[in-house]
Amino acid sequence: MSDSKAAIGALLKGVVSERKRVRAAGRAWLNFGRPALIEKRDHIFIEHVRSHQGVDSPEQVGNDRADVIAKAFLNKGSKLPPALYLTHSEETFILCHKGNYIQGDIRNFMKSIAKQKMIERWKIKAPRQSEFFLAFPHQVQSQAQDVWRRAAEKGEGNAWLYFIFGTCQMLPTQHRINKHIKDPHARSCLLCLGGAIDNMAHLWVCPAMAGAQSELQMKVDSILQQYFPFASYKLESRQSRLRRQWYIHAKKDLARSIPDNRLVILTQDFWNKNKHKEFIPLNSFYHELLLAIERERNHPNLRWSVRSSFLSILVEEFHLNVEGFATPLSHSNEFQYWCSESAADQEFGALGSFFSYDLSGKNTFGFIQEDDPASAGAVITRTEKFIEASCSSRVLLLLPSTIHHKFITIAHLSGCPLFLNHQDVSNFSLVLAVNKESILTDPINCRLGSRTAERVVSSCSDSRNYRR
Ligand SMILES: [Zn+2]
Repeated sequence: MSDSKAAIGALLKGVVSERKRVRAAGRAWLNFGRPALIEKRDHIFIEHVRSHQGVDSPEQVGNDRADVIAKAFLNKGSKLPPALYLTHSEETFILCHKGNYIQGDIRNFMKSIAKQKMIERWKIKAPRQSEFFLAFPHQVQSQAQDVWRRAAEKGEGNAWLYFIFGTCQMLPTQHRINKHIKDPHARSCLLCLGGAIDNMAHLWVCPAMAGAQSELQMKVDSILQQYFPFASYKLESRQSRLRRQWYIHAKKDLARSIPDNRLVILTQDFWNKNKHKEFIPLNSFYHELLLAIERERNHPNLRWSVRSSFLSILVEEFHLNVEGFATPLSHSNEFQYWCSESAADQEFGALGSFFSYDLSGKNTFGFIQEDDPASAGAVITRTEKFIEASCSSRVLLLLPSTIHHKFITIAHLSGCPLFLNHQDVSNFSLVLAVNKESILTDPINCRLGSRTAERVVSSCSDSRNYRR
C-alpha cells in the first residue's frame, strides 16, 4: 500500500531504457529497489490509498503500518553514518559542480550551465543587444517560443529574423546602417524627414509610424483593462493636468486677446518644449505667454497670414514640415516645426531663425511679402545654401513675381485671395527650390505642378465665392 501516486507511477514502470533510467528524477532511490521489484513483480500488487483517513479498511491499516515502518527506518538511519548506496548499487561515479552533487538529468543541467555562460558573455560583449533580454528574461524567452512556432506555421522566416533583430535592438535603422559615415544627415529618419536620428528610440516616437504606435498603445491598454483591477479608473496624465491648469490660468486674464484654439496650441507648444523637465512652475506658461504677447506688440507682426486651406494643400502636395517665418501666436498647425526670428520664441518650440538654423534635410515653406523686397535677397541666398546640402532638402517659396530667382516656378497666382488680411494683392509666384536627393526621397510628379496650381486656384475661388 502506498499513499504516494508519484512513487506508484515510478515503481510500476518496470524495466526502463538506460537513457530513461539515467534521466529519472530521484533515480538513486528508485533504481536501488527496481531489480528486486522486477524479480518479485508476480507476487506484488500495488494499490493507492488516500492518506490519513483512519484505519477502518484493511488497506488503510496496511498504509498506516507502512508509515510506521518508514518512520522507524528513518529514525534508525539518521543515527547511522552515511551509507555508500549510490556508488555501490548503481553508478560508479558521481558528477559534482561547484561543491554540489548533480542528482537530476545531467543533460538539462549542462544546458542550463551553457545558457548561463552565454548570457554572461553576452552581457559583457554586447551590453546594448542584451538590454531587453536582461530586463525581461522570461518574457523574451516565452515570446521567442511563440514567434518561432508561428513563423514556422506560416512559413515566414523573416518574422523570426525580425524578432531577433528587434529584441537585440539591431533593426536596420539609418543610424545602424550609416553610423560609420561622418555626415550627420546620413543617419536621419527617411520616413518622417524630421531630421531626427533614426535609431531604436526614434521608432517609438517617429511621426510617420503614428498608426502603428497608437495601435500598440490601444492593445496594451485593452490588456491592462481586461486583467488588472482598477484599470478602468483613469488617472489624468501629467500633460493633460498641466495643460488644463495653464489654460485656465491664462484664460482668466487673456480671454479677449487670444482665441481659445490658439491658447490650446500654445499650451501644447509649451508642453512639448518643457516636458522633459521634472518640475514646471505653474505660472511659467503664463509668464512666457505675457512676454510673447509683449514681443508681438513691440514688433507688430506685419506678415500677412496665408489662408490655412491654401497652406494645407501645399503641405500635402510638397510634403512640407517647417514653416519658415512664424511666431508663437501665428504659426500654422499644418506644419510639424516652425522658425521664428526671435530667439525667445524657442520657449514655445521655435527651431530658431530661418537665417541661422540649419534647415537642410527639411522641407520648408517660406513666404516673402510684397512690401518687403529687401529681405527677399537674403531669403533666396539662404535657400540656395540649403539645397546645396547633401541631404534631401527643399524650400517652397511664395514670393512676388517681380523677384528674380533661379528656382523652378510652379505657378503664377494673380488676383487670388491668398491672404486673410489682404484682399487686393497683385501677382505672386509659387517657387520650388529642391535638390537631387530630395527628388529621390519624395519624388515630384511632373504633372503635379499643374494639378497643384489647379487645386490652389479652385480653393481660392471657392473661398472668394464664399466670402461674397
Ligand atoms: Zn522618423
